[in-house]
Amino acid sequence: MAERITIIGAGPVGSLLAVFLGRRGMEVDVLERSPDPRVTTVKNDRSICMSVNARGVRALRRAGLAEKIMAMTIPMPGRIVHHAGGKVETQPYGVSPEEALHAVHRTSLNCALLDAAEALPGVRLHFEQEVGAIHFHGGTMESNQKMAPLPRPLFGADGAYSAVRASMMRRAPFNFRQEHLEYGYKDVDVPAGPNGEYQLEPHGLHIWPRHKFMLIALPKPDGSFAAELFMPIEGLSALDTAPKVEAFFREHFPDVFPLHRNLGKDFLAFPVGHLVSTEAFPWNLGGEALLVGDAAHAVVPFFGEGMNCGFEDVHVLDDCIEAHGADWAAVFERFVRLRKPQTDAICAMALENFVEMRDQIEDSDFDIRKSAEHLLEVSFPGRFIGRHGLVAIHGVPYLDARRAGPVLDHVLDAVCQGKTSVDEVDLGFAENLVDEQVAPLVRAMLPRGGAQS
Ligand SMILES: Cc1cc2nc3c(=O)[nH]c(=O)nc-3n(C[C@H](O)[C@H](O)[C@H](O)COP(=O)(O)OP(=O)(O)OC[C@H]3O[C@@H](n4cnc5c(N)ncnc54)[C@H](O)[C@@H]3O)c2cc1C
Repeated sequence: MAERITIIGAGPVGSLLAVFLGRRGMEVDVLERSPDPRVTTVKNDRSICMSVNARGVRALRRAGLAEKIMAMTIPMPGRIVHHAGGKVETQPYGVSPEEALHAVHRTSLNCALLDAAEALPGVRLHFEQEVGAIHFHGGTMESNQKMAPLPRPLFGADGAYSAVRASMMRRAPFNFRQEHLEYGYKDVDVPAGPNGEYQLEPHGLHIWPRHKFMLIALPKPDGSFAAELFMPIEGLSALDTAPKVEAFFREHFPDVFPLHRNLGKDFLAFPVGHLVSTEAFPWNLGGEALLVGDAAHAVVPFFGEGMNCGFEDVHVLDDCIEAHGADWAAVFERFVRLRKPQTDAICAMALENFVEMRDQIEDSDFDIRKSAEHLLEVSFPGRFIGRHGLVAIHGVPYLDARRAGPVLDHVLDAVCQGKTSVDEVDLGFAENLVDEQVAPLVRAMLPRGGAQS
């Protein structure tokens, strides 16, 4: 196949898509508005780490990149919960250490994907090329404010505020929903110790749940942690001086506060990040254009799924190309039909997780349910798996995980009814319920954990 294909956006999803298409021998141009992150000297303000999970690894493996990328990651076999009273609890994600999430620095991952794309003979990367309006009728595209002929087919991998999507929206019929959460986040790195050592346990995803806000930290290879404080935007905005920030951390995160030498100043240096969830339909304009990744479906980060989901998009797209070759109308139609119900399910689950966290976290029943969920997972391995485990550790189709939700909730309701502590849970009673209601579902789901679609 010697067809010219254009991808707008060289974030994680656009870069991985370039690898998939390049490996098929296609000619690919990638247009990215930012400078090349591999050579830029400007400090990237998005110092975030992300968790790569089972479905992300599956897509990377298909692209021949799993070994290279996984070597850059730090395995996190469980979450490490720092409770308000000082108790620290390790909750493994699975029954073996292999059942882990993997922390990776976002920019390093992006650079590795760009290297892999550029190494393919047909792939060309063009940085500092900002795409503006696209006139699908007239056949022109604005790039760096100059009009150029519209390349076809075109992939919009340009993120949650996609310019490609904005142009597609002008071609009715097109439905679009965007929801900004009242919560935002701030990056607060936890530096390495004086000898470059980790100041917290590196093999885990650290969480400090504090009712209306929470701090999350993921390990970076240099001994530091990328941490993010999630809280209502008005609360973040109120932390507007170094003394206020320091007093807040001293009160709520007393184990983190002494690890940081310049907490107040560093905290104020980062802007507030906003969280957005979007749904768009259709994702394609016949065989002319297709949206993928956040451009098609921005997912709020309460499942750690946005990028993993985008990676699975390109994995499924590759399956569609395998089936239809360069018949792009057929490829795009199949992709959208397979993928839209799945991504709707993860967008909904991530929002539900957020609402649950926001509304129920003050409730002591919520703590008991979370602890009971973990207790059932470790007591009945392979028979009870919570929604997060189904999605992130076992990579089952999002729709299946969402459909399992009411059954899991029902069992947890029954097991926790009238309990004031997780220690009171009757494991014999729980086992009967699990074997009757959850284990058959889990058994049916696990073998079907292919890329999905
Ligand atoms: C706080 C936070 C934590 C997260 N943690 C996780 C996690 O742990 N795991 C996970 O899987 N996901 C996580 N996510 C989600 C993840 O960051 C996104 O889903 C992922 O980055 C989407 O990749 P993308 O390539 O589709 O879009 P983006 O990463 O947004 O990349 C889009 C690219 O397109 C470029 N671009 C935009 N507009 C134009 C234009 N007009 N012309 C040319 N180029 C353009 C941009 O410069 C950018 O490089 C998190 C998100 C947040 C906010």
